[in-house]
Amino acid sequence: RDRRSVLGENLLTILTIIGVVGGTIFGLILKKSDHNWTQRDIMYIQYPGDLFLRMLKCLIVPLIVASITSAIGGLDLSLSKKIAFRSIIYYFTTTICAVILGIILVTVFQPGKGHKMDDKEEEKVSRDVLTADTLLDLVRNLFPPNIVQATMFQYRTHLEPPENVTAEMVPLTSFKIKGQWREGMNVLGLVMFSVVLGATIGKMRERGKPIQDFLVSLSEAMMIITRWVIWISPIGVFFLIAAKILEMESLAEVIGKLGKYFITVMFGLFVHGLGTIAIIFYIVVRKLPYGYILKMSQVLATAFGTGSSSATMPITINCLDNMGIDPRVTRFVVPVGATINMDGTALYEAVAALFIAQLRNKALTLGKIVAVSVTATAASIGAAGIPQAGLITMVMVLDTVGLPAEDVTIIIAVDWLLDRFRTTINVMCDALGTILVDHLSKGELSGTAQKLELGEPHE
Ligand code: ASP
Repeated sequence: RDRRSVLGENLLTILTIIGVVGGTIFGLILKKSDHNWTQRDIMYIQYPGDLFLRMLKCLIVPLIVASITSAIGGLDLSLSKKIAFRSIIYYFTTTICAVILGIILVTVFQPGKGHKMDDKEEEKVSRDVLTADTLLDLVRNLFPPNIVQATMFQYRTHLEPPENVTAEMVPLTSFKIKGQWREGMNVLGLVMFSVVLGATIGKMRERGKPIQDFLVSLSEAMMIITRWVIWISPIGVFFLIAAKILEMESLAEVIGKLGKYFITVMFGLFVHGLGTIAIIFYIVVRKLPYGYILKMSQVLATAFGTGSSSATMPITINCLDNMGIDPRVTRFVVPVGATINMDGTALYEAVAALFIAQLRNKALTLGKIVAVSVTATAASIGAAGIPQAGLITMVMVLDTVGLPAEDVTIIIAVDWLLDRFRTTINVMCDALGTILVDHLSKGELSGTAQKLELGEPHE
């Protein structure tokens, strides 16, 4: 690639990091001032960030459908099966490692011991969900009855429950946090549909070509728009973070209350992200991933700023394209990973559920702990890639250890902050997984006849 684009990328990375740090400082300065910040003030400050988020979200649906379908459609069926198989193995191995690490840490650190319960912490949450219901919802979501309905992404933070939304329509993704309704689209359903469509197009060969060509150029157009939107990211991230800092309770108070739990999750994320994953990566690729992680700083800053794997997805794909990863691998592994591979979330689910069990003085058998690891994995798969979705699917992990759904409110105070960090780890693991799968598939990919012309030529 030419020097100008490399310079541009470096500049952008520096600006985004300035956005994160500057946003934090700006938020803290505003908070220290005497002004009494109302919800409306915060909304104004967040406004530029909101616009950035909306632009990113707008790209998600066309990008998922066009990129997954064309990536699979452009490969031999046997090769797409191999790529899918490798990525699924990677997703599962890393998620299980994250859960086990979480269970070990929470058992060793015992953050819930000696913690005083505060009755005020026990608000009511709106939904009463059982593990079986959530698992059934997860599978049900794989088969959307209506593909257009599956793409509805509404993110309502200041509205009462939408009347036309029934539990049947958005079973897994509609939920309420602190009286605010949030809904996400059915990404799993879209992914499933795109995989089947892509495989079919691949099988149709010549007759599938018109739709394949259409989807390839749609996917490319989305990436061009992404490259424009990316230039707004430093400003977007700046205001998103500043507004969030203004909105939060005093950090010292929050961390003081749930400090040990917070540190356990953070330590786990750190060890998983820079330790476990690095080892797995090294075993497969024979290289440490830290150089790649540095090159991803803009992606990680965006994940931190938005708290959403899905919203960060266009930027992740763009970054991997710049690194020279085969676009057919990226376009399958990233969107699927952003939807089902959430290591940070899985680790947090296990720690949080066991932390609450410790608070409640619940002794757990080994069988129950194994059940926690299974449901924590399922809960991370089921969580949508939107802010704090993991908090809701955690209800099923709590149910496994015999705790009521209302208990999620105990950890709400620090959840928004943990959410940012776990999202960053989720996104980083998706990107490293893509590099790993690309490495494993290199020889086979160069041998396939139907090389796609996605983006700029690589290497
Ligand atoms: N916000 C996370 C993500 O988008 C999901 C979660 O853990 O709540 O990856």
